[in-house]
Amino acid sequence: MPVIIFFIAVWYLSLFSQTFFNHRYASHAAFRMSKGWERFFFIFGYITQGAHYMSPHTYAIMHRLHHAHTDTEDDPHSPGFSRNFIMMMWSTQKVFTDIRVGNRVVDEKYMKNLPEWKGFDKWASSNLSRLLWVGAYITFFVFFATSPWQWLLLPVIITMGMVHGTIINWFAHKVGYANFVVKNTSKNLWLIDILMLGEAYHNNHHKHPSSINFAYKRREIDPVYPVILLLDKLKVITINRQIQPQG
Ligand SMILES: [Zn+2]
Ligand SMILES: [Zn+2]
Repeated sequence: MPVIIFFIAVWYLSLFSQTFFNHRYASHAAFRMSKGWERFFFIFGYITQGAHYMSPHTYAIMHRLHHAHTDTEDDPHSPGFSRNFIMMMWSTQKVFTDIRVGNRVVDEKYMKNLPEWKGFDKWASSNLSRLLWVGAYITFFVFFATSPWQWLLLPVIITMGMVHGTIINWFAHKVGYANFVVKNTSKNLWLIDILMLGEAYHNNHHKHPSSINFAYKRREIDPVYPVILLLDKLKVITINRQIQPQG
């Protein structure tokens, strides 16, 4: 049981830090925050993502490229240019690393207003840090796994950011329904969103990338939206109201 609880906790907490900080804040500037809170969420991202820490700075650049070049050859992760989702996951990882270490030249227009904490990012993205996290996970499993099948969850925990990314970047560009006519293949995955904290409303998101609410229709619920409203009320963040969609 402790392993299952741990798995579920890592699933939702790492996804929260990804969608809240890396995606909605760093990539799309849906809200603002002070340098101090920015550092808090860098650390929160590191603790919750652990072995699969994704630099918010690199994530935002890659994600902006996805929005600018969706479904084309310049899209960092288009299902149209990969044979299957494993290959796409692999090539996305490569693009991510190339951007992070500076092997890929990116146009200045995608580099504006990015959260940056170079020293911290360097450590959190290092092989040594990732190995230490893997060691900690294994130790936890040795003590708390109650059945051999539970070890199958270990590789998922280690690569969880990529798993989350693949669910959206592959499936939400292949199957599902669209609320909006957009010039790309983005779709919404309704029931799947129970697992995805709003991210599965991907067609809505492509229509209104900087919206703080990824849900649109009545039956759609984005659980991160009320959290953003609360953090705005508590003055942890300030919603960029002038760029929110109207109506
Ligand atoms: Zn997309
Ligand atoms: Zn986006």
